Amino acid sequence: MILFQERSLASVAVDVHAIMCARGVLVRERCDVENSGSIYWSDQEEKWIVDLRAQESWVRKRYTLAHELGHYVLHLGNGARKDLSPLHRTENPSTDRMEREANQYAAELLMPAGRIRNLYRNGTPLDELAAMFQVSKAAMGWRLHNLGLERIG
Ligand SMILES: [Zn+2]
Repeated sequence: MILFQERSLASVAVDVHAIMCARGVLVRERCDVENSGSIYWSDQEEKWIVDLRAQESWVRKRYTLAHELGHYVLHLGNGARKDLSPLHRTENPSTDRMEREANQYAAELLMPAGRIRNLYRNGTPLDELAAMFQVSKAAMGWRLHNLGLERIG
């Protein structure tokens, strides 16, 4: 039983860093940034770069990276739209829409609805789900809530 759990833990969590590397995106951790993360085209490096705030937890960095991947895929044309970079967070509604879409992309990538529903209905508790999918308990709580599976708090 423990063996099975270990195996499922290893296979279930998406490796977001590997996905970014496969697309040629340079992922860096920096201590001197204020945002959790950002994605932008660098003429100097001739690469897309994601900067992650180094001080944040591993699960938070994973979520931020998945969010930036959402921008890359949904809003930056898989890297074709260098003119849109960097993405700034403003009160502009279209930017807010992009933020929501990037969050939805991250949630579905890290916590696929079908697998979460099955595991939850089979009795897997929230903290175990969070550990399996390597997300924060807060993120898993929101995901269960948004899938209509559990109330927050
Ligand atoms: Zn964003």
